[in-house]
Amino acid sequence: MSFLSATLSRVKPSPTVGMTGKVAELRAAGKDIIALEAGQPDFDTPQHIKDAAKAAMDAGQTKYTTVDGTLELKQAIAAKFRRDNNLSYQPNQISVSTGGKQVLFNAFMATLNAGDEVIIPAPYWVSYPDMVLLAGGTPVIVEAGVEAGFRLTAEQLEAAITPNTKWFLFNSPSNPTGSAYSRAELKALTDVLLRHPHVWVMTDDMYEHLVYDGFDFSTPAEIEPQLYDRTLTINGVSKAYCMTGWRIGYAGGPIELITAMRKVQSQSTSCPSSISQAAAVAALNGSHDFIDENNAAFVRRRDLVVRLLNEIDGIECPSPEGAFYVYPSIKALMGKTSAAGVLIETDEEFASALLEEQGVALVFGAAFGLSPNFRVSYAEKDEILEEACARIKAFCDSLS
Ligand code: GLU
Repeated sequence: MSFLSATLSRVKPSPTVGMTGKVAELRAAGKDIIALEAGQPDFDTPQHIKDAAKAAMDAGQTKYTTVDGTLELKQAIAAKFRRDNNLSYQPNQISVSTGGKQVLFNAFMATLNAGDEVIIPAPYWVSYPDMVLLAGGTPVIVEAGVEAGFRLTAEQLEAAITPNTKWFLFNSPSNPTGSAYSRAELKALTDVLLRHPHVWVMTDDMYEHLVYDGFDFSTPAEIEPQLYDRTLTINGVSKAYCMTGWRIGYAGGPIELITAMRKVQSQSTSCPSSISQAAAVAALNGSHDFIDENNAAFVRRRDLVVRLLNEIDGIECPSPEGAFYVYPSIKALMGKTSAAGVLIETDEEFASALLEEQGVALVFGAAFGLSPNFRVSYAEKDEILEEACARIKAFCDSLS
């Protein structure tokens, strides 16, 4: 019998985090690698946010805080929910964790029993199904392919709901596709949920501010106030504020759920970093002007990458509404052989041969539950993106 737990044997290590580790290894070995695998902005954290962290350290804010966040940060989050989402959450309805990842984890740990189902549209962010499994629940994957714009339909959601459904997990704009739901598309889903009062909604709004071409972001409890009492609205400062390493995510939700999540966190990390919390207060309360500047760069890069990838024979790349990802299909390239003689029958084999033969790191589609595709994170400088696309083209052209 294995020394390791049976629960652990049901999950895999995070492929996104794993790929970042692989890039670091290859670079340390002297390899020239273009890394488009990690979902994080290349921009540095804005200066006023860093200054707030330094001031917090100097003021001695270096001790444990209350378990799920300081009152000051919860007030800043409450103001953010009012300002951006027309949602009213009191501080005792808010939970702050070490990244959005821990918020999701706490929520699943706090609510799932054996047999409980969580509906997850695919493609999904790599960690959703494994977190559900770690917490003892059952992920129910429903595919929303490119023909549907990577968006789940009301009919699909209706058909996936069973008496055992506990959560519907919603993510818009999406990691890995960048696809986002319009208000009307989201309303079609919330109408379904109204008919099923036992289903709760977990919405991962991490890419809220990263939407382009005038796209109008919305979140379930805002679109359908009747869902407010069974919705956990999750967000964080990582992506829009260029703060991935600071690890601050948060959620607003019903008091009973937030209290249960606090109990989980009290037995794991005690509290998020005090210094990062002070920085997050400055991020949420401070000027947001830099987000528009960053988004102008993201739009330009999205258009560049979509154009260059679509110029490659065998790649089809839709142009998404938000986030900093594109999720092209490589269906036409399956079954071919690379210059080095590797037979490519899956997107994982494609990504691994591309890394080996051209030094470009991407995340393969199977990790996100929809194949054959790959995810590009275009949060990189334009010239690096151009070089990466040239290498991807050279690789694809070399396939026979
Ligand atoms: N969310 C980012 C990504 O998808 C960070 C890595 C992770 O935690 O998965 O690349």
